[in-house]
Amino acid sequence: MNRFKTYTGGALETNCFLYETPVGNILFDAPEGADAAFADTRVDLLLLTHGHFDHVADGAAIIRRHGCKTAFHADTIPMVGERDFFRKWGFAQEVEPFAADFLIEEGPGEFLGEALRVFLVPGHCPGSLCFLLPGERVLVGGDVLFRGGVGRWDLPGGNRDILFDGIRRKLLPLDEDVVVLPGHGPATTIGRERAENPFLTEERNLSSTEIRPASTVKSRTTL
Ligand SMILES: [Zn+2]
Repeated sequence: MNRFKTYTGGALETNCFLYETPVGNILFDAPEGADAAFADTRVDLLLLTHGHFDHVADGAAIIRRHGCKTAFHADTIPMVGERDFFRKWGFAQEVEPFAADFLIEEGPGEFLGEALRVFLVPGHCPGSLCFLLPGERVLVGGDVLFRGGVGRWDLPGGNRDILFDGIRRKLLPLDEDVVVLPGHGPATTIGRERAENPFLTEERNLSSTEIRPASTVKSRTTL
């Protein structure tokens, strides 16, 4: 865990994480303010968990400042490639467009010499990726699994069943001591969420109309 630096920025208090490797630094996500926060820190590779504007707002600025590579899932391309993509959803935000140097698919991968395992867990957002760093026992999870919550599924491209299926099949089977670094809010562990997350422990007993997106049970709206 001590190889991670956390920055939280933007109106939606979005987390990003800088991970130090022996050969360079990986930044996971780029919320508003991240460019200034890491201006004096080397960024060699920007990886995106997903393309929602609160996670990618400073992406173009960071790429420009550091000349770093960036990578994400193919389904993220339209979200970061069109300046006014989110206006179609009714949000006022514009994102300075940028493009991937390479695309990421589910499976084992190596980034700056670090072996990572990538899970594709859509349902909150198409192309949503979770990055497991096995050596650190850390999952950089984006907006999929929160402490006591899950990502909202009511935005365009969202799907409740796909989200829950992905969490159950891909994330909950991980070791219970794996630390989850989520896109919003505090860190948690797989074991804690398996045991206590009301969306996962009570889902069986709730109909789809009774169970609400995380944003309605939390004081903060996440995207
Ligand atoms: Zn999101």
